[in-house]
Amino acid sequence: MNLHEYQGKDLFSNYNLPVSKRKVVFNANDVIEACNEIGGSKWVVKAQVHAGGRGKGGGIKIANSSEEVRVYADNILGMNLITHQTGPKGKCVQRLLIEEASDIAREMYAGIVLDRSSGKFVFMVSTEGGVEIEKVAAKTPEKIVKEWIEPNENLKTNQARKLAFTLELTGTQVKHAVKTFLSLWKVFKEYDCSLIEINPLVLTKSDEVIALDSKINFDDNALFRHQDIQGMCDLSEE
Ligand code: ADP
Ligand code: MG
Repeated sequence: MNLHEYQGKDLFSNYNLPVSKRKVVFNANDVIEACNEIGGSKWVVKAQVHAGGRGKGGGIKIANSSEEVRVYADNILGMNLITHQTGPKGKCVQRLLIEEASDIAREMYAGIVLDRSSGKFVFMVSTEGGVEIEKVAAKTPEKIVKEWIEPNENLKTNQARKLAFTLELTGTQVKHAVKTFLSLWKVFKEYDCSLIEINPLVLTKSDEVIALDSKINFDDNALFRHQDIQGMCDLSEE
């Protein structure tokens, strides 16, 4: 089972992972109120479908006023969004995430997967975020750095620090990233995930580290242990 970005971010937020101020809407009439609740003066309108590549497909727009948010919401809600992950038929957008726009200094990547060939978990990071990680893996695999975690162990602080240094972070940035990685591992483990990806994990101009996207897949065989996750299932997407 998969989650929408906004559901993944709610889960992240419960584990104190840094995410943007945000609100999900199902109706364009609700976006102005959402902007007021979120605050600020710049927002991102994000189509919620179970597929990546939404930005390139026209499903993500940055708006400089709540009126502009409204226009984008009208355009995106109900649209058939086609990305490299939806297949040629595309997906109908029925939910939108309105989110505070971040001042991005750098886009990075962080992810955890179960590596069945080694029987271990792999925590991966890359300085090359915001792009298709499959392409990075194919063209410049040296830019993806990995730390392995034994099935009965946890991500260790020194591993998290190594990963943060790989991302060329310094000072307080390292502290923020280490905390984020340890929390991410906790979510992965406690929810029996098979994959979590944050692409992009951004460094902001004020040195914050924020999860700007979320992708979470669960091990269906363990779903019976997670009633809260079952309740988030969007059957129209599965
Ligand atoms: P997808 O991976 O489906 O294209 P993302 O959530 O990763 O969707 O967004 C695509 C791009 O849009 C990001 O790489 C980032 O550059 C930009 N973006 C997304 N959310 C925000 C935000 N809250 N503030 C600023 N830029 C954003
Ligand atoms: Mg993304």
